[in-house]
Amino acid sequence: MHFTELIRIKRDGGELSDDQLRFAIESYTADATPDYQMAALVMAIFFRGMSPRELSAWTDAMLKSGTVLDWSHLGKVCVDKHSTGGVGDKISIPLAPAVAACGVPVPMISGRGLGHTGGTLDKLESIPGFQVRIEPAVAKSAMEQIGVAMMGQTEEICPADRRLYALRDTTATVESIPLISSSIMSKKLAEGIGGLVLDVKVGSGAFMKTTERATELAKTLVGIGQKAGCETVALLTRMDRPLGQTVGNALEIEESIHVLQGQGPADIRDLVTELGAEMLVLGGVSDSLSAGRNRIEAVLDDGSALEVFRAMVACQGGDSRVVDAPLEVLPQANRIIPFRASGQGWIQSIDTREVGLASLLLGAGRAKKSDTIDPAVGIKMMKNVGDQVDAGDVIAELHVNEEGQLGAATARLDQSIQLGIESPEHVELFQGRVCGSMLERGES
Ligand code: URA
Repeated sequence: MHFTELIRIKRDGGELSDDQLRFAIESYTADATPDYQMAALVMAIFFRGMSPRELSAWTDAMLKSGTVLDWSHLGKVCVDKHSTGGVGDKISIPLAPAVAACGVPVPMISGRGLGHTGGTLDKLESIPGFQVRIEPAVAKSAMEQIGVAMMGQTEEICPADRRLYALRDTTATVESIPLISSSIMSKKLAEGIGGLVLDVKVGSGAFMKTTERATELAKTLVGIGQKAGCETVALLTRMDRPLGQTVGNALEIEESIHVLQGQGPADIRDLVTELGAEMLVLGGVSDSLSAGRNRIEAVLDDGSALEVFRAMVACQGGDSRVVDAPLEVLPQANRIIPFRASGQGWIQSIDTREVGLASLLLGAGRAKKSDTIDPAVGIKMMKNVGDQVDAGDVIAELHVNEEGQLGAATARLDQSIQLGIESPEHVELFQGRVCGSMLERGES
């Protein structure tokens, strides 16, 4: 088989066979195909797209380029959740322990911050001692004893994706629905799960800015999951403002602990409840979403989700006193600087990507892979979209250590917030649900 022929077929809008797609992934992973040929193929895919059959075969080849975890000895359906990424999106941190507390095991492999979005691994690492690179034996024991492990991708899982992602990053081929979907789903399917809930974000702080694009992504992801035999559901959720109050690693852990204590902001609790209910139905422990919601709310309110989180932190080497005294255990910034409203009115909108970038400038994220992050810094929103403010009111707090980029971060925050004279139209947190190839709206 000649790789050049595969590039030509795709370039001209043809379909590649399953064998050809498998060959492309296998030869690239084995170093038998150079980067320039794979770059040409992914650029052709970027422009021509992939049929559902091609996408399944391509994802399957990526998945099989490495190890697929096997939890069959647990005798339960393992379920996970994936978010397409947002600003202040700390949902996995309270969600995974809450679902495990209801008896559904969660072997969660998460990522690091990408661009303006934060990453679950970076957040967890702000807990002193917490290890995200854990040995398979530790993950196995965590899954058996506690029912949850939150870890990073290892060298053995989806090596094809690691190579392809780095190539796409440098060849302007990241923003392609088939390439994004196969990248996400190959890694998730490698977790050995039987059910997956996707939180597809839509809005100014999401990679998908419109409901149309987000729906297309959700349907593509769900289609790949179903074809691979993994029950998959996607919720489309609002990302036109930071989630909860905090953006920044330790700040988001503290907020997650509040949610696990039965408190915390309503949007975080609602997302944990809704996504958790979907996971309990997929895991077979709740027979309806409303029963699932009740169970998740119960474990948040009675402390059992918090105890699972405590056990997970201890098992992964972290200081579990964080659960009782987050402010004493988590790193704190040297200065808290108020950001005040310049005028009076209602907050009409927040360009959420800008808030993520402002937090990144303070040191909470990475501009490039080799950057180190400062776990203590970030932004706490004291007001959000729909709130009314007077001139001088504190809209946000900047938690700062290094002040070098403070001016640039403040300018970004300033530009991101639009005030107006009327209360803005309400935007629902839940925008839709994709199950099979259907987009459902409203109450499920
Ligand atoms: N996240 C991934 O894992 N892959 C992509 O291609 C984009 C986002």
